[in-house]
Amino acid sequence: MYKNNQGNDRFTDPMKQHKLLTSLKKTQFPWMYECSKCAPQEALRNLGRAFKNFYRGLKEGKKIGFPRFKSKGVNDSFRLYGTISFEGRQIQLPRIGKIRIKEKRKQYYKGRILSVTVRRRANRWFVSVAVEETIKDTKPIVGSAVGVDLGIKTLATLSDRTTFSNPRALRSRIKKLRKLSMSLSRKQKGSKNREKVKLRLARMHLRIFNVRQDTLHKLTTYLAKSHSKIVIEDLLVSGMMKNRRLARVIADVGFYEFRRQLEYKCGWYGSELVVVSRTFPSSKMCSCCGHRKKELSLSEREYECEQCGLVIDRDLNAALNLVAVSLPETLNACGEEVRHSKSSEICNAASMKQEPNIIPDSMSRNV
Ligand SMILES: [Zn+2]
Repeated sequence: MYKNNQGNDRFTDPMKQHKLLTSLKKTQFPWMYECSKCAPQEALRNLGRAFKNFYRGLKEGKKIGFPRFKSKGVNDSFRLYGTISFEGRQIQLPRIGKIRIKEKRKQYYKGRILSVTVRRRANRWFVSVAVEETIKDTKPIVGSAVGVDLGIKTLATLSDRTTFSNPRALRSRIKKLRKLSMSLSRKQKGSKNREKVKLRLARMHLRIFNVRQDTLHKLTTYLAKSHSKIVIEDLLVSGMMKNRRLARVIADVGFYEFRRQLEYKCGWYGSELVVVSRTFPSSKMCSCCGHRKKELSLSEREYECEQCGLVIDRDLNAALNLVAVSLPETLNACGEEVRHSKSSEICNAASMKQEPNIIPDSMSRNV
């Protein structure tokens, strides 16, 4: 319809598509009556959103692709709403009934259930519950400001010299992963053996994802709970992903996910997230005297200042610069008080807290 109507968005409106589907259901898809009506409705809503993004991309000249067609067996998921409740270790879903939950928890959720999304990952079914919970006015956290530099060798280096190591979830498994995908490519399409290998591969990917997610959650929760201000760099992830040698490690660390988690957790716990412009030379500048190097290659792990002779870990130097730029006056690494008079000029620190649409008062929390 999009093609036939030259992209007129009247035809991609979810409500209109829903009407059309309802009329088609009777004649062409009678089996659809077996499942909850929410599932196709929500799918159409998602499609509507995908089309909206696509049109926005066309207008703003951004590359946002045409919504992709879905097929059975790939990213299987559906969203439901209506009468959803928990009873002991069971969840009641509309049309499906009671389902036992594998995960043991005293309390599965707080607040009011909005909807659930059921997803199949590595042939296991997962349910995430979106709930609405009013978060009381969070008191600003009393604590210091901290600069965080994300890296490849060390996951995060904090300006207070704390470091978080990278679990390298992917790297330790990459050999196995390669072997498996090679083996998969040799299996005959449609064979049982292929299905088996496919599942093993999917399980491994899921495991890697879980390890990565766990590390990031621990890091971001720690940061948001213990510091009043967190200063990070606005990394151009998509640009870095184009560098083929870097792409895998960056995807492994999950830079984008790190920022996304920090954004909402700062809202929950009452800390402030400051994102420093990517034009700010956080790694090239000396955290002691402000001298700027013209070039600094990625292989140089130590920062050596030609002007004041400071030798410091590269990531720590960057973290110190980040925290310094967010404060009007600060002690530098040499212990002297310096004033970054040019700070407003060299960075335009964007405070995420002031954008109301990012952190609403009540928000959905996934259980
Ligand atoms: Zn220096």
